[in-house]
Amino acid sequence: MAAAKKRKTPEARIYDTFIVGAGISGLCAAIKMKKEGYHDFKIIEKATRVGGTWRENTYPGCGCDVPSSLYSFSFALSSKWSHLFARQPEILSYLEEVSEDFGINELIEFGTELEHAEWDESRHLWVLDTNKGQTLARTVVFATGPITEAQIPSLPGLDSFKGEMFHSAKWNHDYDLTGKRVAVIGTGASAIQFVPQIQPKVKELHVFQRTAPWVLPKPDMDLGDTSKQLINKLPIIQKSWRKAVATSLNVINFGLRNPAALKPVSTAAKQLLRVQVKDKTLRKAVTPDFTLGCKRILFANNYYPALQADNANLIPHGLVEVEGNTVIAANGERHEVDVIIWGTGFEVSHPPIGRKVIDANGDRLSDLWKDTSPEAYLGATMKDVPNAFLVLGPNVLVYDSFIGLAEAQLDYIIDGLKKVKQKGITRFAIKPPVLKAHNDKVQKHLKTTVFNSGGCKSYYLDQNGRNFAAWPWSLKELKRRLSDFNVGDYEVVYQSAEKKKAA
Ligand SMILES: Cc1cc2nc3c(=O)[nH]c(=O)nc-3n(C[C@H](O)[C@H](O)[C@H](O)COP(=O)(O)OP(=O)(O)OC[C@H]3O[C@@H](n4cnc5c(N)ncnc54)[C@H](O)[C@@H]3O)c2cc1C
Repeated sequence: MAAAKKRKTPEARIYDTFIVGAGISGLCAAIKMKKEGYHDFKIIEKATRVGGTWRENTYPGCGCDVPSSLYSFSFALSSKWSHLFARQPEILSYLEEVSEDFGINELIEFGTELEHAEWDESRHLWVLDTNKGQTLARTVVFATGPITEAQIPSLPGLDSFKGEMFHSAKWNHDYDLTGKRVAVIGTGASAIQFVPQIQPKVKELHVFQRTAPWVLPKPDMDLGDTSKQLINKLPIIQKSWRKAVATSLNVINFGLRNPAALKPVSTAAKQLLRVQVKDKTLRKAVTPDFTLGCKRILFANNYYPALQADNANLIPHGLVEVEGNTVIAANGERHEVDVIIWGTGFEVSHPPIGRKVIDANGDRLSDLWKDTSPEAYLGATMKDVPNAFLVLGPNVLVYDSFIGLAEAQLDYIIDGLKKVKQKGITRFAIKPPVLKAHNDKVQKHLKTTVFNSGGCKSYYLDQNGRNFAAWPWSLKELKRRLSDFNVGDYEVVYQSAEKKKAA
């Protein structure tokens, strides 16, 4: 049992709902609640700006791998995108504009971090401690993000490194890479975006690759002023494009659930590699040895050319040790470098919000998740965590825009909030048998998907090899399941029963 934090004098003000985080999910929650006529909510954000992921990740080349027509809110399509796939600064501006246009900015309490959230069983309230004081709320929406915690491996000798060192998610823009000897660790989604940007300016670029990713050509395009004006005048273009992108992602998703269907794509991708990478040794080193789709498919046109530049050196092994300023690969290859850039991704199987939340039994979620990853019902509600929702929680990941997933989940959450209010429910918690049956089915169906059977170790799998991230069916099915908050799935306490008990 976690030691309960000493409570301060409670604020008189009790909110209906408390939203934590003002990234895409938190903004979407606030917009949808406002639209439904809910005004009794508070939204906090620990940073001083909205944007979440797109505020934090500013590395060179950072951008979206889903076309912007789809990576945008369904209720706020934009005609301003400069490319088919938007870059980070544009996505951040878009989110700031949406927040302003929908009147959310003024509702956000910036610079406010949730430090401790504890369920008070006697009052059916959440007691929420922030760096600015205490708030009480009947319900909470944790929109604190699925991919936030930069992961840096602890390696022997790392302490002895005297050069510069930073993670892609905390890019040091004050450090000039010009003429420097650079080690990039990792070849995931962020690395393949920043490697081509830094390669032309550095003296030496050593890229440590543990697993060769599938990198397909990115069908990107500059959208000039004429296209933007046309899209602005004829929004139907944007809508049709959005539909077309969604349809093609559905096809990819079908392949991920039925790996044999993606065989022609991987054959074509390997043929393309022959054209793109002339050197046979390098080509062999960058050819993936797992089924396409097992790890997130990456898209780039400039990654392989960057690796073939004279100053670039792909090391098809992980970094295992550091000795002073010398980085040492698993095959013993050694290089003296001035800077290490970690493109090692994020710790996603244990969301940091777990360290702040105490459930109805007095247990800290991170303690419960110590030996496993979290489970939730439809990625949203957790066992013994009453009156609370997660956005983009476990097992809702579909190869699509996260914005679409967040919107679908928030439709479920807001339907739930509405029903709870209408029915006078003061406490609701997912029924353990419902949660178990759901997750057993999810895990059973994941077995045949490429994520579990494709022969890779991806971030979808936790330390025990359990897939905590993916949804095994179609996006349509996820949306169908999220279209109705079935009160029957929850153990509930009604206000009338409470009153009777008190009398
Ligand atoms: C580099 C990178 C590239 C990506 N590219 C894509 C892509 O191409 N396509 C795609 O679909 N998805 C992509 N994603 C996934 C991306 O995370 C989601 O698309 C989306 O931005 C998630 O939004 P969110 O609001 O749920 O979380 P976040 O954007 O992480 O926002 C969470 C917010 O909560 C705040 N917060 C957290 N804890 C607290 C606390 N205790 N108190 C107060 N505030 C708190 C944070 O400061 C943050 O602002 C990418 C992720 C990364 C890291």
